[in-house]
Amino acid sequence: MERKINLSEQEIPRFYYNITADMPNKPLPPLHPGTRQPITPDLLEPLFPRELILQEVSNERYIEIPPEVRKIYAQWRPTPLFRAVNLEKALNTPAKIFYKYEGVSPAGSHKPNTAVAQAFYNKAEGIKKITTETGAGQWGTALSYACQMFDMDCEVFMVKVSYDQKPYRKIMMNTFGGKVFASPSQLTSAGRKVLESSPDSTGSLGIAISEAIERAVSQPDTHYALGSVLNHVLLHQTIIGQEAMIQMEKAGHQPDIVIAPFGGGSNFAGIAFPFLRLNLTENQYIRCIAVEPESCPKLTRGEFRYDFGDTMGLTPLLPMFTLGHDFMPSPIHAGGLRYHGAGVIVSQLLKDGLIEAVSQNQQRCFDAGAQFIKAEGIIPAPEATHAIASAIDEAIRCREEGVGKTILFNLCGHGYFDMAAYDMYLSGKLNGESQVSDESIRASITAIDSLQP
Ligand SMILES: *Cc1c(COP(=O)(O)O)cnc(C)c1O
Repeated sequence: MERKINLSEQEIPRFYYNITADMPNKPLPPLHPGTRQPITPDLLEPLFPRELILQEVSNERYIEIPPEVRKIYAQWRPTPLFRAVNLEKALNTPAKIFYKYEGVSPAGSHKPNTAVAQAFYNKAEGIKKITTETGAGQWGTALSYACQMFDMDCEVFMVKVSYDQKPYRKIMMNTFGGKVFASPSQLTSAGRKVLESSPDSTGSLGIAISEAIERAVSQPDTHYALGSVLNHVLLHQTIIGQEAMIQMEKAGHQPDIVIAPFGGGSNFAGIAFPFLRLNLTENQYIRCIAVEPESCPKLTRGEFRYDFGDTMGLTPLLPMFTLGHDFMPSPIHAGGLRYHGAGVIVSQLLKDGLIEAVSQNQQRCFDAGAQFIKAEGIIPAPEATHAIASAIDEAIRCREEGVGKTILFNLCGHGYFDMAAYDMYLSGKLNGESQVSDESIRASITAIDSLQP
């Protein structure tokens, strides 16, 4: 039995898989917040290249991966697929557990899969600079790397509290040629306005988004980029699941259950959508489970409604599972999962009962992460421990029921920049997660009543 299933460079997929082609109910359209009418693509043109806007609304099943992008993917793709033999033993389970490891990318997560594609399409349309925001730093790192690959400039607005707490993430972006600003900054009117009223503001993702968008529209040849949620981002990530499918075939197993952590939905979509295609078109039944933190439970306790994609209300209104854009999740260490909403496509699939969602609490996730480290020797990103916790839950259920199912999960990133979080875990001082009451969820959801069409 092979522990590690590798593929050759020739086996890097040649197409992205667009699940909208196979969805029984197509996603509802994003609406203009003023008119409540479906937005027209030209509204997005100041921010995104035409090719990405077309992908955003495309119904084509397969979209070709540009050869230039495939060539860069080959620096770390295909990523390895492992059989978690030691974890299976430790759990004494009849289940077979596999994981796809995206931590081998230059940024250490799945995010470069879309960053490289987005940089390419922008470059092809003559764009010279891309702006963005970053929370914990994963997305900013991926975009800085991707821009450098295409000789473009990259400006990253990093939420000030992370900028101060995660100096190595900032330096990593700098080494990839990215310019990093603590947000709120003096560079934009949005930032200056915040600093005027609260000079000690530690920032928020919402403020950083406003700053990045303002910089994009106020400079020539400059665009903006997002690292999750949008349809084209999910599309680019499907390279993960397509590779995993070939690797599982080589291993001689088909997954019964596919599991991934869930922030905005991109790495979940990436690993799950190619398998979900088999359910939608070939009458198979593979369970696809999205795992969110208990402290930010939009899929399991939120509602399917129109809401803004950001905290400030700058984006179009998106039909999605949401906790309301004012919802403030506790400062858990899995920063990438602290988002109030979910991508439009994934939301529609959940509404139609085609995928499942569960939540895990932080302590349990780190316990699962520690068990995984002991068995497999890879330190997972705090986000990835959510998938590990649910994979272990399913493997234990297999043991109790005496059935040997095959489980595949996405190890979406390594945790080498999260040592402070592991330090707190090891010293028993893990904190930051508080119980979310029904009242607080009801309050932040009621607050978006007026946005409904
Ligand atoms: C950004 C990020 C996430 C969450 O984003 P998705 O779009 O839901 O994938 C999860 N894990 C890691 C390591 C990330 O960097």
